[in-house]
Amino acid sequence: MPAPRGMGGPMGGKFLTEEEKANQPKVTPALLKRVFSYLKPYTKQLILVLLCIIVSSFFSLMPSMITGKILDDGLLKKDFRALIYYIVLSLIVTLAASLIGVAETYINTWVAQHITYDMRNQMYSHLQSMSQRFFTTNNQGDIITRMTSDIDGVKSVITNTFSSILSNSITLIIAMIAMFQKNWILALVGIVIVPIFTVPTRQAGKKRWSLTNESQQVNDEVNGILNETLSVSGQLLVKLFGKEQYEYDRYEKANRRMIGLNIKESMAGRWFRVVLTTFTSIGPMLLYLAGGILMMKYDSNITIGDISVLVALLGRMYMPVNSLLNIQVDWIRSMALFTRIFDYFDIPVEIRNAPDAVTPSEVTGDVVFEHVEFSYDESKKILKDISFTLNAGKSIAIVGPSGSGKSTIVNLIPRLYDVDSGSVTFDGIDVRKLDLRFLRDKVGVVSQETYLFNGTIRDNLLYAKPDAAEEDMVEALKKANIWDFVESQEKGLDTEVGNRGLKLSGGEKQRISIARIILKDPVIFIFDEATSALDSISEKKIQDAIDPIIKSKTSILIAHRLSTILAADEILVVKDGTIAERGTHKELLNKEGIYRELYETQFSKAIIEDEGASELEQYIWGTQPADEPFEGV
Ligand code: ADP
Repeated sequence: MPAPRGMGGPMGGKFLTEEEKANQPKVTPALLKRVFSYLKPYTKQLILVLLCIIVSSFFSLMPSMITGKILDDGLLKKDFRALIYYIVLSLIVTLAASLIGVAETYINTWVAQHITYDMRNQMYSHLQSMSQRFFTTNNQGDIITRMTSDIDGVKSVITNTFSSILSNSITLIIAMIAMFQKNWILALVGIVIVPIFTVPTRQAGKKRWSLTNESQQVNDEVNGILNETLSVSGQLLVKLFGKEQYEYDRYEKANRRMIGLNIKESMAGRWFRVVLTTFTSIGPMLLYLAGGILMMKYDSNITIGDISVLVALLGRMYMPVNSLLNIQVDWIRSMALFTRIFDYFDIPVEIRNAPDAVTPSEVTGDVVFEHVEFSYDESKKILKDISFTLNAGKSIAIVGPSGSGKSTIVNLIPRLYDVDSGSVTFDGIDVRKLDLRFLRDKVGVVSQETYLFNGTIRDNLLYAKPDAAEEDMVEALKKANIWDFVESQEKGLDTEVGNRGLKLSGGEKQRISIARIILKDPVIFIFDEATSALDSISEKKIQDAIDPIIKSKTSILIAHRLSTILAADEILVVKDGTIAERGTHKELLNKEGIYRELYETQFSKAIIEDEGASELEQYIWGTQPADEPFEGV
């Protein structure tokens, strides 16, 4: 007989942790229906699995039944032919049961793999439709766990839990029918014996399990102490505070607790085996006794073969019963798993295409913010009454202290988030009404943290425009001021950028991502300038790459450096989520407000760092009166 599935742990059983007990999923018909909806496309295969299980369970029980024939018709009657016949038959059915078991495992695994394949694809596509908010609020580890181990868990639910329930139940039913057919009195005795065996072993198993848990905890504690105190900085702290004795005592105490528990645990394991062997051997004895009484005292026509069949069948019942008792734990865990996965599936898609989304044939690039209010969560309003107009072909620089909401403003344009109230329009059409793909196609963002995929420079460029010709790529790289670098590489466009572009410097990465956007050729360019200092040569190269774009294309820049700000047609100064000032550089300087303050602290510093100041900067420098603030810095 194939080993009953779902056993997992020792014969003593599986138990729920306190946490699992507290968070038991609600198993509703709707949940079950949903779980089974994943099985439905594979109904045919599952019926085949069921048939295999029935036949192999039956075949695997047959040798037990044949034992009776071997004894009664073969040995006791001294019929050698019958003996050989039954022995061979027994071998054949055992082999057949195993082979059918193999087929069953194959179909079962196939179905489980296909179900998880469907589920993974569905989950991946669902995750891709999630908004930026989802990814910023959820831990990446959790998201990946859901995609990998949770969905893998489903596979084991199907191959183990579900088929364990089926195969064990079927084995039990067949064994019981066979027992009742032989002799109903002995069958009843057998049925009473099984729980007598399982209850004490479960109790012993539970004790053992809780000891294992406890020793695991102490083990974690000991490891914690080791990690804390044997690290370089931990040791330093211990030494400087003279805590050696204290730490030693702490360690010694945990260590002592651990050996105590380990001894108890080993002994619990030993006692468990004693209980197990005692009760498994009591069963057959009771059946022999009851059979003997029937034979000798009541003159029943029960044969020795019948009694041995019953004993053999009884032996076959322990495992499935024990397994089915454990199934409850597997079942709860499986349902918890499905609930967790479904919870993810049920997260609504926040940013989706409007049913009546439009795809204009042409757009010029006017962007208008009208009374835009926005918050990431209810607790704090991030943008308050933001209104501005960016005309096609013009550029706006957004400046302001860190955290004032600059990135948030630009995030609303490609609909990484939607406004709470007010509107963002693109060529007069509310962005929420535009086809999402169309919109994102028209907006190009170079973000602060440039992200390159692991692959070659070519791969990263083609991500923006899969059908780009080599010349287009070279052209874009030239415009982004990075062609010289690419050309100087041995492999040119096929140079590997490394994981997340790690093989390139910050400035090179940035310029490649600029080339990627140039290749994409959007209607609006958004640059979120890096705050972290690049070396001045890199900055100059980046500046030279984006300057022509700022001057010729519709663009928005979140700017930290004066040279970028000066290139823009208008400057918006954002503070605490509102536009505090707006105008040109000169107008704003004369206002003596926040801009001026920022200018004195932040921008002038950037100029000092930037040895290769742009022509524009030099122009401004040259035209500033001597008492301008940067003069003295
Ligand atoms: P800036 O670009 O001006 O530095 P941001 O627009 O990035 O500012 O952020 C504005 C405010 O919104 C900050 O207080 C920031 O903490 C908060 N914030 C930014 N992104 C998120 C987010 N994904 N979830 C919650 N709060 C956010």
